[in-house]
Amino acid sequence: MLLKDVPGLAPEKKKLLDSVHRNHNSHAQLFHGPAGTASFALAIAYAQYLACKNPGTDDSCGECQSCKQFHKYSYPDLHFSFPFARIAGAPKELNCDFFAKEWISFISERPLFHLNDWLNKLDVANKQAQINVDEAARIISKLTLKSYSGGPKFVILYLPEYLHPSASNKLLKTLEEPSADSIIILVSENPERLLQTITSRCQKIYIPRPKNSDIQTYLESNGLSSDAAGTAAAVAENDMVQALNIARDSDRYIQFGELFQNWMRGCYSAKVKDIFAFVDQFSSLDKESQKEALRFFIQTLEISYAAGRKGQSINHPIYQKLSFKLDGFASVLHLTNAKMALDVLEKAIHDISRNGNAKLILSDASFQFSNLLRLKEA
Ligand SMILES: [Zn+2]
Repeated sequence: MLLKDVPGLAPEKKKLLDSVHRNHNSHAQLFHGPAGTASFALAIAYAQYLACKNPGTDDSCGECQSCKQFHKYSYPDLHFSFPFARIAGAPKELNCDFFAKEWISFISERPLFHLNDWLNKLDVANKQAQINVDEAARIISKLTLKSYSGGPKFVILYLPEYLHPSASNKLLKTLEEPSADSIIILVSENPERLLQTITSRCQKIYIPRPKNSDIQTYLESNGLSSDAAGTAAAVAENDMVQALNIARDSDRYIQFGELFQNWMRGCYSAKVKDIFAFVDQFSSLDKESQKEALRFFIQTLEISYAAGRKGQSINHPIYQKLSFKLDGFASVLHLTNAKMALDVLEKAIHDISRNGNAKLILSDASFQFSNLLRLKEA
């Protein structure tokens, strides 16, 4: 991955390059910022730059042996560590080696992703993911073994906040006294959940949410039409990964929008038949789609409420394709019912994640929405 192929983040790239040119780059780096950025891709591109045999001032050469190996993720001293959950047939002592092949095929296909995309790939989205103590031992051995390439050794640790406490403790000493040729890059979305003794040992770089214009440019450079890219960028609200997911599957989001429209109409008019038709349709989705649809509903509600407060009209690319007027929906929202409605949706996601019955959960939520939508502002 070349630095120029990582979308946006020009100031962050410059900061990293400056630290390399001035020989100030630390052996332990912490890239931190919200989910949905290109931080993981940046970590790879940064490692490639450090390993490049013939680097330019602002990017790797792309031609040397290291660069070619990085391109295929086959540089022998590049190691990845990431959250996982136990799957059927896994050995008792389980670490990331077991998932390595799947991981490489996953990140080759989509270098920008959410943790959930990865857990879905493993089919363990319902399980508790973590980075266990066996994996910490593997990381340490990778960082202490001799370099195969003769160049630097890297561990890119995706979401260190998923380290089991015993695994964090095990890693501390390695972070404190890294061997001369090893570099560990932590890519975190919740650095406040890391041990302070870990973060204090790292050079930190904040990776901000991308601007909508950066997202749009990136999607267009991935072959999407300007219209589709604009739709996805607007719906995803500064989350590049979600924008990509939406752009790849915009019909799916139109389906979610249609569900929301039918649901809100049923709830507002309190037509039981319409509500149950929605509940049936919703329950026929698979569980991950149910959660994704609910997250989309939450986003719809937030956008509508925020625009309503400011007296702005809403041009939502998905709902524009439907006949649902979000302005009208926004007009029945106020602080009290909007907050309660968000709680109802959050709880529905929580209950569905815990294998609750979707029909019961959504029937209950519908009953609450019927009341909330007609609740007058106090
Ligand atoms: Zn190179």
